[in-house]
Amino acid sequence: MEYAGMAKRFGLTVIIGGMHITMVPKCLTKDMDAGCIGEGEQTFCELVKLYSNAGRLKSSDLAGIRALCNHDGERLIRTPARAVIKSLDELPHPNRSITGYRNRAYVYTARGCAYDCIFCSCSRHWERYGIRRPNT
Ligand code: SF4
Repeated sequence: MEYAGMAKRFGLTVIIGGMHITMVPKCLTKDMDAGCIGEGEQTFCELVKLYSNAGRLKSSDLAGIRALCNHDGERLIRTPARAVIKSLDELPHPNRSITGYRNRAYVYTARGCAYDCIFCSCSRHWERYGIRRPNT
């Protein structure tokens, strides 16, 4: 929340994702333009395309993107959920030629968990257990 506030003071667009916003979307502050719910790859790609075309993220445009939360005035909007990515093999490898510090970029080799412990966010966040084939 603090970093989002700092970014906003510089006039930046702020998009967040991860387990916290997925479990508790009401934590989205007014400094955050959008929160990605659940798996973020497809949602974030659509946000980037929208931003590239429009130069900003307007609430009316965000309504067309699934698995998002955002503010529309005083209202917190949640768009419909998105289907999980069927196979992690579908995801391209990171383009390390454009990543920053020491070309760090991670590849998820697995996500989710085969179990469903009630106190754990893992299975709720990822919705399924999936692994990436080593040769992809
Ligand atoms: S605590 Fe979470 S990650 Fe660990 S076995 Fe249970 S559901 Fe899986």
